[in-house]
Amino acid sequence: MEQKIKNMQHSPSVGLLPIDLERIRADFPILDQIIDGNQLVYLDNAATTQKPRVVINAIIEYYRKYNANIHRGLHYLAEKSTEMYEHTRIHVADFIGGVDPKEVIFTRGTTEAINLVAYTWGEENIKEGDEIVITEMEHHANLVPWIQLAKKKKAILKRIPITFCGHLDQSNINEIITSKTKLLALTHMSNVLGTINPVAELTALAKKHGAVVLADGAQAVPHLKVDVKSLGVDFYAFSSHKMLGPTGVGILYGKKELLEAMPPFNMGGEMIREVSFDHVTWAELPNKFEGGTPNIADVVAFDAALHYLEEIGMDNLRQHEMDLTKYAIEHLSAIPGLEIQGPREVEQRGGVISFTDNDLHPHDISTFLDSKGIAIRAGHHCAQPLMSILGKIATARASLYIYNNEADIDALVKALKGMRRYFGL
Ligand code: PLP
Repeated sequence: MEQKIKNMQHSPSVGLLPIDLERIRADFPILDQIIDGNQLVYLDNAATTQKPRVVINAIIEYYRKYNANIHRGLHYLAEKSTEMYEHTRIHVADFIGGVDPKEVIFTRGTTEAINLVAYTWGEENIKEGDEIVITEMEHHANLVPWIQLAKKKKAILKRIPITFCGHLDQSNINEIITSKTKLLALTHMSNVLGTINPVAELTALAKKHGAVVLADGAQAVPHLKVDVKSLGVDFYAFSSHKMLGPTGVGILYGKKELLEAMPPFNMGGEMIREVSFDHVTWAELPNKFEGGTPNIADVVAFDAALHYLEEIGMDNLRQHEMDLTKYAIEHLSAIPGLEIQGPREVEQRGGVISFTDNDLHPHDISTFLDSKGIAIRAGHHCAQPLMSILGKIATARASLYIYNNEADIDALVKALKGMRRYFGL
């Protein structure tokens, strides 16, 4: 598989090959690990995913053969580094549906991408009395910047509620999204409930009222084929590390007209055209938003992650995750005392499975599973307002990715049953 991916470097996606899980798992060296005598079972993919050897090797190769600062050098290494960095941008633009690479801005992650919009577009465009619409299932990254902006500008923060089943409740949507709406900021896929939200539909409604739409794609782009143009959104944010790539690389897609009209975010080198002691003009897109030395090596290595996903095919990946999510929900629901959050229908959700046990704290569940080599996450998952709506202080969360298999789910289910026996339940 890796050889094939290597041979494909810079070639278009072939996709739709049958999934060979054994070969895929063999590409992830970390999965071989034995921790405290237990084979590692990694089910914390919504937090971050593991890296295939091609990505690890791409980082090493970059530092061994090409390392130099980009854009500003005239020597071979600087030119090569610049070419590789810009190549990833072109690849990202293609991966999200064929946008103009100038509309792709590299940031440190989804959080920084959303903050960029809040501090630039938000500062300039949100005025007193304007309405910002979010949903009740937002990650703090797509919530705190808007709470703070609304406070500062005396704007109003409105929210789309969720139903008992974990979908967005659209029964009063025409009272929530109105002509006063200046921004709709919503997650494409919930990191707690797994719900896939109707972004295109809600964007169309927001657009009727002239609002700007930002979607948080941190949990969506890694798992679904995303075409930002057909979604119709103005801004779309996601992170490399949740899709096999390195940490420290985020992507902000923004429509050119908006990005061009926005002031810059980080000021310094690389983002200017001309500077005198009393006057500065900004560089063209995308440089205007990439002040300072960026995370070159990790952006370069992200290209290998994109190739890897394309080789598998996003449709194959999605099918595999739907099958495995179905299997997991079926088996987890059969455990007495366990309550699963979010929609049941796998077509309407991703492989993020949050659950609670009537008798045990999620932290105890996670600690017990860790003693069996199983990595999940427990806590509020950076969604405290959602937790309070669910009436929970925390949940345990198992989240899947392309290398997970039924044996991982079996290990989880067996350990959870063992845990209940251990605690005498
Ligand atoms: N949005 C969602 C839905 C997430 O799940 C996460 C991370 O878990 C983020 C935003 C923040 O991503 P990052 O930490 O990469 O900035």
